[in-house]
Amino acid sequence: MPPQAPYPVFISSHVIGGFGRGSAELGIPTANIPPEALMASAMPKGQTGIYFGLSKITGTYGTLVRHKAAAEGAPPSNEIVKSTKAIATADATVLPMVMSLGWNPFYQNKEPSAEIHIVHKFQEQFYGADIKIAVLGYIRPESNFVSVEALIEEIMNDIRIGKETLALEGYREIAADAFWES
Ligand code: ADP
Ligand code: MG
Repeated sequence: MPPQAPYPVFISSHVIGGFGRGSAELGIPTANIPPEALMASAMPKGQTGIYFGLSKITGTYGTLVRHKAAAEGAPPSNEIVKSTKAIATADATVLPMVMSLGWNPFYQNKEPSAEIHIVHKFQEQFYGADIKIAVLGYIRPESNFVSVEALIEEIMNDIRIGKETLALEGYREIAADAFWES
């Protein structure tokens, strides 16, 4: 059975800097995308939580320079210094991902924020690169923080559910969609 409407939701965007805390320390880095990309997409509005799907990183990337927020509660003013370094071929493929969708406190919780963990070992960080995403389904709501170990275990379980579903007929075909080459 193929994904049910509104899935697949295809999104083309670019990788921005996040808060720079948490995910890398957990060993689970998440590529953040701007709220506008989600607002403009067919994603169900207001359903926060964990989604799964596919993702592909392409183009060139740079380094992230983190500036302090101008004021308490203001958005962090990160800046990506673009280089002409291209994503390695081995990294520029269609890969499984899990995505956490929440409300961004820096935007007074008015704008969604999405963080995407791609199930792949990348050679380098890829801030500023192009990212294509196919969101294929919803896994669960956000959970309350229990412990770091419990959180990691939960994310590992999300990855397992995502991968199992991606292997099903109706899902497998999406990895070959023309969207990835557009
Ligand atoms: P930030 O808060 O800036 O998003 P993270 O700790 O979440 O910082 O790290 C995210 C960055 O790590 C991504 O923007 C990307 O450049 C890099 N990265 C490396 N491997 C992965 C991966 N498997 N999935 C997502 N991002 C990755
Ligand atoms: Mg992140």
